[in-house]
Amino acid sequence: MSDQEHFYQSLLDNIADGVYFVDRDRRITYWNKGAERITGYKASEVIGKSCMDNLLNHVNAEGKMLCMEGCPLTACMASGEICENEVFLHHAGGQRVPVYVRTAPIRNAQGEIIGGVETFSKASPARADQLELAELRHRSDTDALTGLRNRAYIDRLLRGLLLADEENPYSLGVLFIDVDKFKEVNDTFGHEAGDRALKMVSETIQNNLRKTDVVGRWGGDEFIAVVQDVNSTDELQAIAEKIRMLVELSRLDLEGGSATVTVTIGGTLAHKGDNGESLLKRADELMYRMKRSGRNRVEVDQAKQY
Ligand code: GH3
Ligand code: MG
Repeated sequence: MSDQEHFYQSLLDNIADGVYFVDRDRRITYWNKGAERITGYKASEVIGKSCMDNLLNHVNAEGKMLCMEGCPLTACMASGEICENEVFLHHAGGQRVPVYVRTAPIRNAQGEIIGGVETFSKASPARADQLELAELRHRSDTDALTGLRNRAYIDRLLRGLLLADEENPYSLGVLFIDVDKFKEVNDTFGHEAGDRALKMVSETIQNNLRKTDVVGRWGGDEFIAVVQDVNSTDELQAIAEKIRMLVELSRLDLEGGSATVTVTIGGTLAHKGDNGESLLKRADELMYRMKRSGRNRVEVDQAKQY
């Protein structure tokens, strides 16, 4: 190592922040002492590895894994811009550590981006508490299997939406969605494949609604979609029909074949005087009516009671 390199290395090793470099393939080429202190990983354990190799596994406060989608280093190498984020990194001991992360591209003498640098520092204890609280709150509102909102959250959401628009709640719709003959999926392909099928259904529903709509797992194989700004029962019917059709066309490839599932949906718009319970009860009853009449069907309450 030349004197100059030695100087820079000891400079980097003596700052409190964690610093590491990656090349364009996100392979770690340098890891300072600060990074060792904050993460518990020694330089010898990480150099040459990809930061995606189950190492730091940054997640944000919403619990989104950033390594596969939303990696700040990838984003800064692509855009050439500096990014700052608050994330939780994975410590060698298993715990999550809240850190401020700053990522910047590294350029060669010709100005081409040849890698990236990430510096990170531990959040202050007060900020760490805030971040942990946000993560905890998010976790208590989230269904562990599908990552959708859970029943408690949907209950609270409906209560809030109906209270906010007590006199004029008609643009709020709910869909009660139940997977058809789901027990047969478990019996034929096993419980684990059943879990994957539930995830597939939940993603199909979520990806095909608008950003303002909220999908939750009500329990077992039941899902609720809370659809806002719906102007007519026809519009709600069309949304439900689209979900029904897209679930029918989804396919889960498994070792012993492929699994397809269908859903039956009941939907209704909010009426004056509704509460969350009455709204969902109506949608549930319509869904059951469609179960009895053959499944893989949609029925939306057409009666105008207002
Ligand atoms: P139907 O068309 O009448 O809805 O028939 P079904 O077989 O889907 O009946 P039902 O909705 O009553 O049963 C849901 C089944 O979903 C029961 C349970 O075995 C299964 N299930 C519930 N939660 C989970 C889960 O988290 N994972 C898996 N794999 N299966 C689940
Ligand atoms: Mg079912």
